[in-house]
Amino acid sequence: METQTKLNVAGLDFVPYISHKEIAQRIEHLGTELNRDYEGLSPLFLPILNGSFMFAADLIRQICIPCQVSFVKTASYEGTQSTGKVSQLIGLEQDLEGRHIVLVEDIVDTGLTIASLLRGLENFRPASVKIATLFVKPEALKEDFEIHYRGFDIPNKFIVGYGLDYEGFGRNYRDVYCLAED
Ligand code: 5GP
Repeated sequence: METQTKLNVAGLDFVPYISHKEIAQRIEHLGTELNRDYEGLSPLFLPILNGSFMFAADLIRQICIPCQVSFVKTASYEGTQSTGKVSQLIGLEQDLEGRHIVLVEDIVDTGLTIASLLRGLENFRPASVKIATLFVKPEALKEDFEIHYRGFDIPNKFIVGYGLDYEGFGRNYRDVYCLAED
């Protein structure tokens, strides 16, 4: 599929931002780091659906050490006033106790979702939990946690493609596009 010079997704115009080639290069690098860091640890990758499906497929193809993969979703509910929105993983099939977990995300924006998931995962007593995300918006981050494996730091732009959607559309493109400025 050719990169399109302009893309209309559900009524909004987007322009090319990061090519599939650049993404592939970063993912190869992340894969090398993961293979090195998790040697002998049999990590469990937990890609968070829906947005991470393409990233997870390409990233996990780079992994050449024994590992497991289990796709999960997040469910949000209102916590107490002090905790605000709480996110929880659903669809977990494995026992997480003592496991080395890698959460695979498409994009960390405010970080509220991941921060809440990290707090919830502590209850399962994993050996370690690290995050692999393709994109981070550092200016939007409101929570303080370490992001161990990150593809690209991007400004506060809204992006689609490579698994990321707008109104459910746009996930299918292999390149990433950002919202066109007026
Ligand atoms: P956070 O809790 O970090 O603010 O939210 C992260 C989630 O917001 C991502 O998993 C994604 O679903 C959505 N999101 C944040 N920024 C973008 C963006 O630029 N494009 C798209 N398509 N989704 C985004």
